[in-house]
Amino acid sequence: MSAGLVVVGGGQAGFQVAASLREAGFADPVTIVADESNLPYQRPPLSKAYLAGKTDAVGLHLRPDAFYAEHRIAVRSQTRAVAIDRAARTLRLGDGTVLPYDHLVLATGARNRPLPVPGADLAGVRQLRDLADADALRAALEIARRIVVVGAGFIGLEFAAVAAARGLDVTVIEAADRPMARAVSTETGAFFRGAHEGLGVRFAFGAGVASIAGEGGRAGAVRLSDDRELPADLVVVGIGVLPNQELAAEAALSVADGIRVDAFLATDDPAISAIGDCTRHPSAFATGLSADGTVRIESVQNAIDQGRCLAARLAGRPAAYAALPWFWSDQGRYKLQIAGLSGPSDLSVRRGAGEAFSVFRYRGARLVAVESINRAGDHMMARRILGAGRTPTPEQAADPAFDLKAFAVA
Ligand code: FAD
Repeated sequence: MSAGLVVVGGGQAGFQVAASLREAGFADPVTIVADESNLPYQRPPLSKAYLAGKTDAVGLHLRPDAFYAEHRIAVRSQTRAVAIDRAARTLRLGDGTVLPYDHLVLATGARNRPLPVPGADLAGVRQLRDLADADALRAALEIARRIVVVGAGFIGLEFAAVAAARGLDVTVIEAADRPMARAVSTETGAFFRGAHEGLGVRFAFGAGVASIAGEGGRAGAVRLSDDRELPADLVVVGIGVLPNQELAAEAALSVADGIRVDAFLATDDPAISAIGDCTRHPSAFATGLSADGTVRIESVQNAIDQGRCLAARLAGRPAAYAALPWFWSDQGRYKLQIAGLSGPSDLSVRRGAGEAFSVFRYRGARLVAVESINRAGDHMMARRILGAGRTPTPEQAADPAFDLKAFAVA
């Protein structure tokens, strides 16, 4: 009997490759090895609707329990994969089981980057990656008074918006000089700074954390590198993630801030592929952004599209991964949607005004990304335009009379 396909990681990407394989008629056994205790679920609501108490855990599940039995997808939850034997084509699990595979998919995601300062292990210092973290933060929000968020990235800001909406005292510390500095233009960053300040959030930019002070094992204040001290009974750290690549590295597969894969999402070993947050892949959208034209992307779109792309190959219809990256973030009443990948030196051109506008980003003469704030129509058109590799001129993009939709569908 065939050993079938084994997926390590029961997140968005791991679920998707399994589900898409069944849709494609793949008949061999499929097993997902997942170290979390829940059925595969969506993470984005953990810092949005779920954190705000607007949806429950069942509402996060990607599919109900019955789906897995109906589609003959075995989910071994609360089980960690600990070693790959490439020569034998087996995977060793934490409970000692050795699982044979014909093909292995690494969909191990990423984990939060730890804050390397004294006091980071005190009670009251938290991060947000999984459902258990979100449950702990929901409970903490019930009793917190003063909150310090370390990191003005997407998750830190989404958390800040939810906490501020509850009337809590929130200060966000950020090493850069503006919010979301790695991901968006100065224009979009400035808008979100104002939006959060309007919600009552305070910022400390250009600030590093020296330590977290506490009493009785609990956090009481955050000390900044410029000696300021911010009282806090809850500290939420959101300073980015690290790819879970150790399993691959220990099996001598190439890694470099992500498990390296080719355009078909294969690792150096043809019997092992990798998808989702843990991978570094070649991308035409990264031209001019990274020295070797590869990128590691942390997004639902990338996890889903890589899962689908790999399933198609394993089902006998190979195609290079070429999906346009896109992303969203909900912060208070503001919806940010990004299509494409931009870098700090890309030119910005604004379309629209007030609280609903888009920023078109150009690298040289080429449109490379569009950031839309409360302009879902622009975002959808931007996806079409960027996906087709087309470029309106900066003058057209800025002109309110220019028909973006007509351009996109032409
Ligand atoms: P994951 O979803 O992280 O799944 C990987 C799984 O593998 C995890 O369950 C992990 O525990 C498990 N695993 C790792 N190693 C092993 C092992 N050795 N054995 C067994 N299991 C293992 N993206 C957006 O596009 N929009 C958003 O608004 C957005 N909001 C987000 C909000 C939050 C709070 C978070 C945490 C993420 C958000 N993201 C968002 C990012 C998005 O959720 C991720 O990009 C996506 O989940 C990646 O899917 P993945 O399957 O690659 O990784």
